[in-house]
Amino acid sequence: MDENRYIQVILPLRLDWEPYYRVPEGMDVAMGERVKVLFARREYSGVVSCTGAVPTTAPDKILPIQSVESGLPRIGEKEIALWRDVAKYYLCSVGEVYKAAYPSLKIQSEETQARTRERLEARKERLREKILRARRDETRQRYREELEQLERGETTVGNGSFHPLSDTQNKALEGILKGFSAGKTVLLNGVTGSGKTEIYLELARRTLAEGRSVLYLVPEIALSRQLEMRVADAFPDVMVYHSAESGARRRDVADKVRSAPATLVLGTRSALFLPHRNLGLIIVDEEHDTSYKQDSPAPRYHARETAIMLGIRQGARVLLGSATPSLESLYNAEIGRFVKVDLKERFYTGDDAALMVVDTVAERRKNGMAGSFSLKLLAEIRRTLDEGGQTILLRARRSYAPAVQCTSCGHIRKCPHCNVSLSLHRHPDRLVCHYCGHSEPYDALCPDCGGALTALGAGTQKIEEELAAIFPEARIARLDSDTPEKDEAGIIRAFADGETDILIGTQMVTKGFDFSGLSLVAVIQADSILSLHDFRADERAIQLFEQFRGRSGRRGKKGLFVIQTREPDHHVFASLEGADECERLLDERRQFGYPPFTRIVQLIVKDPNEKRADFLSAQLAEKLRPVLPQGAVTGPYAPAVDRIAEQYIRHIRIMLPRDRQLTAHKEAVAACVSAFEKERKYTGHIVLDVDPA
Ligand code: ADP
Ligand code: ZN
Repeated sequence: MDENRYIQVILPLRLDWEPYYRVPEGMDVAMGERVKVLFARREYSGVVSCTGAVPTTAPDKILPIQSVESGLPRIGEKEIALWRDVAKYYLCSVGEVYKAAYPSLKIQSEETQARTRERLEARKERLREKILRARRDETRQRYREELEQLERGETTVGNGSFHPLSDTQNKALEGILKGFSAGKTVLLNGVTGSGKTEIYLELARRTLAEGRSVLYLVPEIALSRQLEMRVADAFPDVMVYHSAESGARRRDVADKVRSAPATLVLGTRSALFLPHRNLGLIIVDEEHDTSYKQDSPAPRYHARETAIMLGIRQGARVLLGSATPSLESLYNAEIGRFVKVDLKERFYTGDDAALMVVDTVAERRKNGMAGSFSLKLLAEIRRTLDEGGQTILLRARRSYAPAVQCTSCGHIRKCPHCNVSLSLHRHPDRLVCHYCGHSEPYDALCPDCGGALTALGAGTQKIEEELAAIFPEARIARLDSDTPEKDEAGIIRAFADGETDILIGTQMVTKGFDFSGLSLVAVIQADSILSLHDFRADERAIQLFEQFRGRSGRRGKKGLFVIQTREPDHHVFASLEGADECERLLDERRQFGYPPFTRIVQLIVKDPNEKRADFLSAQLAEKLRPVLPQGAVTGPYAPAVDRIAEQYIRHIRIMLPRDRQLTAHKEAVAACVSAFEKERKYTGHIVLDVDPA
């Protein structure tokens, strides 16, 4: 038999091998093509990863492929190489990365191409109409140029408006270019308002002028929306890409990236898996942001690490930017793996917002509190309103109240499926679980004893209500994940345009936005941010507070940053007062052997049966201990929320030294888990998370 007729195929599954298939006479396949195949009696669309394979499986066990999906673009070798890098690092299967990279495979190829053509024709038609109807010559000319470009199948790059860089910015730019010439990833550590974005745009302009593509990553969609307008001023052809865009739109972007000579994509982490070619620059803005880490499903990748892998595969330079870099990146700069460039000066001269820490325990004793607010903060809000300035309030919990309790029996209402209290949401009144989404009507009566239920604490909704009662004339808006997605952009725009006086929200409001009228920012109940049970809690809190503080006083006016807390002496606040906490935090991590000095692989065992979760996670831990360095394995233990959506959860934490054996150790973990799953017929219960957030 002709051995050239065998191929290997990547399937969108958690498989640690790539199955063999036979290519029937009369069919032809090439690397990177997609083929329809049967696996375990189900049909999949797989990617040809090897042609002319020599099967290790018995030939009579090898199935023929069903068909070749000829209309689909071929997947490049570099793309597959990146999938392999990601799979190896994050201990998942290549197929799982493939599945993440090509999420909507069901659409038939010819159909897709026909639709793309249709859309293009429709767009041209609209432009022709606009040209006829345009009143002004300039407008007509612009439409005409756009149409000509479409007809030539071109995209233009960078003919928009740019700001010339300041001397300080130019010096930073030089430093970045020097780092790039040395072949290093560069970390741009620039205070908020220092003009990092302008530097990104200048670098993008240069890269595109060289005829190479640019990928500009942001942690969240909400941020990409505001940035989009700014980037589009400089690059009218910027393409925005994130997983909430329609499938058709995403395919459009993928087609352009694949075929246009040089493109600029502004996107969230999933844009890393576009069919890049000719990539010259990857920008990872706000590199410290935890939204860059994918929680679930696999691949549980971090955009920063993956950007570096992509950069290597593409020969692209990688620029990480942040006002509050991750300890991970600072450490990488310290050991010379990255080059760090500092930008300490704000573009519009001005200092950081002044800090005022309010001790809520002491204030309450002195009658200095009104509901969730200290009188001190209320005075500042009043003053800001009077001066025509704007305020943002951060409360890290959405809902009206994080819990409800019975006033007679003390019972706290819990989710029937999870080990967490239910949050009260008003208008309409409902109890909602923030973990599994369970929701039930709320009638303020205890189901156990019929007593009256009362709300415990205050979430964003309650804060909004209290505030509206105190400042009835103020225009108040709220932004959290209860905000319908379609309203988000409008709320942000209204605040940016000064149509809203006070914005209340969760972490969403602390990031990236450039609001010129904002002069007061305040944290209500900072304690919920300080008390996270995690060795990264301090790092996270400092980053969050610094980011938030940077929102205010951006146009030379001095802003004010108020923090309400029960723990005014917490050392996190020392960092906000100017103390350099990074060294202290790094020392602490070194001393306790935490990342960045080690790597964590977290195993998560989930089982609807509590005893089995305990028993099997304990067995798994015992199996792992002998194959790993002494003391590397801790657990199993129950996390703070130990039951979610009917599944009991146990964690096993593995801390591995960052030495030459790291990869081998990680592979040993994966092999051990996989053997355990087979031995115990326990597939689907164990999750591996490398570098958990
Ligand atoms: P960062 O990204 O570091 O927070 P930005 O790039 O948003 O800072 O810059 C802060 C403000 O300063 C923005 O309003 C920006 O338009 C302005 N700015 C920065 N650099 C320049 C420049 N070279 N010329 C004009 N305006 C600038
Ligand atoms: Zn629940």
